Amino acid sequence: MKGEWTSEQELLASTLEDFAKQELEPDASALDEKEGFNRAAFQKMAGLGLLGITVPESYGGAGLGCVEATLAMEKMGAACASSTLSYLAHSILCVNNLSENASDAQKKKYLPKLISGEWIGAMAMTEPGAGSDALGLRTKAERKGDSYVLNGSKTFITNGPEASVFVVYAKTGSTKKDISTFIVEKGFPGFKVGRKLSKLGMRASPTSELSFENCVVPLANRVGEENHSVSHMMRNLNIERITISGISLGIARACVEYAANYAKERKQFDQTIGSFQMVQERLAEMATNAAAARALVYQAARAYDSGDRDLSLGAMSKLFSAQIATRAGLDAVQILGGYGYMKEYPVERYLRDAKLMEIGAGTNEIMRVLIARELLEGDV
Ligand SMILES: Cc1cc2nc3c(=O)[nH]c(=O)nc-3n(C[C@H](O)[C@H](O)[C@H](O)COP(=O)(O)OP(=O)(O)OC[C@H]3O[C@@H](n4cnc5c(N)ncnc54)[C@H](O)[C@@H]3O)c2cc1C
Repeated sequence: MKGEWTSEQELLASTLEDFAKQELEPDASALDEKEGFNRAAFQKMAGLGLLGITVPESYGGAGLGCVEATLAMEKMGAACASSTLSYLAHSILCVNNLSENASDAQKKKYLPKLISGEWIGAMAMTEPGAGSDALGLRTKAERKGDSYVLNGSKTFITNGPEASVFVVYAKTGSTKKDISTFIVEKGFPGFKVGRKLSKLGMRASPTSELSFENCVVPLANRVGEENHSVSHMMRNLNIERITISGISLGIARACVEYAANYAKERKQFDQTIGSFQMVQERLAEMATNAAAARALVYQAARAYDSGDRDLSLGAMSKLFSAQIATRAGLDAVQILGGYGYMKEYPVERYLRDAKLMEIGAGTNEIMRVLIARELLEGDV
């Protein structure tokens, strides 16, 4: 839409589109099949300044905001949603979190290698017994002199098998909110990356369990005050929900484009299937939903950048965009008929990848809980 973007954002969008077409799309299907990881693309993202997209320039980042980070997710998500999910875990869940909450010394120690792509980052909140109820986590960190000793386990951690640095949440007190954040390096004693988990979709984004058995973490690696991490967690979840919505927008757009092109070519009953009104209706609904989601997601991103940290707007953008991405995946498969169900065409991958958007970073149900809570408990 004319006037939607600044000239810098337009340049970023076209750079991202070219990058996604050249570096992500060609391998997306093969990496999905073998559950590979596009390490080379990560290195190239570093070259484009994408790995520290929201980090201030004074710390070597691009100094951009939530709008630009969402744009990156959208453009790359259309080509390879799973590589983009790994990029999100690195750049938002880990790097942005450190940029916002870590001390100057911690930023100077960790950000350069994360931004240059030498290290890949991850964030570990979820545990086998604590998913939606994130504050119910049980990994414990006990202070022993100048260190903390961590015990517990995490699961579903994006980039787990590839990461060198993990932002880890652990309990440091007796109440539900006594949570602290730690920076754990892969080589710390007592830390182990567990099983790599095989998945329905997002298969080029490696996921694993983690375990901490008397894992010794220096005091210098605690981020912020002890027992004060719930606010970090919530703030980072908000930007995560908005930026991850960009991946849903990318998937939805890929579905609309692929299905529309197919409908122009495929002939049945001596006419293109695009001439049938039922196919037209499906395409029109897909495109309208994608446009509506886009408007909502960028409204949330702009609000975030202007300092308005309205949690329910982020939740709405995550909920609506995830729903329309899955719907678009189903519709695209339907428009391609039997071919849509085959691995030779990308739409079945779009559908499998889209489903994660309704689960990761908070399920659709939890988004509804957040939105309803705001309506029922806040000033409407
Ligand atoms: C591919 C993938 C990547 C991920 N990456 C990361 C990562 O990098 N780091 C990380 O920390 N976590 C990560 N996660 C974890 C993700 O955030 C959780 O899976 C998600 O929050 C849901 O938690 P759960 O899986 O334990 O489901 P549960 O919380 O057990 O939920 C099961 C069902 O119950 C419903 N439910 C639960 N509570 C309520 C309620 N109060 N009201 C209504 N319904 C409810 C849920 O909506 C869901 O349908 C990832 C997950 C996946 C699948």
